[in-house]
Amino acid sequence: MDPGSWDFTARKGPDIMSGERILIVEDEEDIAELLEYNLQRQGYEPSIAGTGEDGLNQSRESIPDLILLDLMLPGMSGLEVCRRLKGDPATEKIPIIMLTAKGEEEDVIAGFDAGADDYVTKPFRPKVLLARVKAVLRRGASRKVRQEDVLEIGDITIHPGRHQVTVAKQPVELTRTEFRILHFLASRPGWVFTRSQIVRSVHGDDYPVTGRSVDVQVAALRRKLGESGHMILTVRGIGYKMGD
Ligand code: CA
Repeated sequence: MDPGSWDFTARKGPDIMSGERILIVEDEEDIAELLEYNLQRQGYEPSIAGTGEDGLNQSRESIPDLILLDLMLPGMSGLEVCRRLKGDPATEKIPIIMLTAKGEEEDVIAGFDAGADDYVTKPFRPKVLLARVKAVLRRGASRKVRQEDVLEIGDITIHPGRHQVTVAKQPVELTRTEFRILHFLASRPGWVFTRSQIVRSVHGDDYPVTGRSVDVQVAALRRKLGESGHMILTVRGIGYKMGD
């Protein structure tokens, strides 16, 4: 029996949560090995890169399904690795979970701006990390929301084509910007977005908007959504996400 073809068959199923290849970029050996051990036990196929350069090379040689990226690396920083991966069409779609030191909010924000998909703070419980890995891989599979798709989240329904929003079937009047922010957050429930990512998505790269004005828009949006306003969650020190 050819184990390679087995593997391939297993990976084709939409509900198979194991067998995905996960690259661990981490210079601390004990942490890397702890991750490797736990991922293997869950049926994933982990590999380890001890430096940023090695991580980049391995990612380019054989595209992993997910990267766990330590931000504090000797030589090329994790942030730089993230920027390069997300700046290269060949690797930009690989989801990245950052591993950050506790209390390093600035790092997390910079990581999100560099395109990272999620983060876990060290020291972490393997259970928590595995849950994030699973969630990010699952999101990746359902990532393609078409611009014109009607989105339903809780009682909120968003009709992009009609530029219309209803809450419990009652229409809600939103400004253009409020609508765009809501649509952006709702197209990826559970994803955390920084204020600058929200500004860019709504207005494009060059728009001179501060993070503060995003706060004002979100406050207005929550008010207009009434009881469903709590679906837009504040992620302290970082930005916003839509509850899922
Ligand atoms: Ca490190």
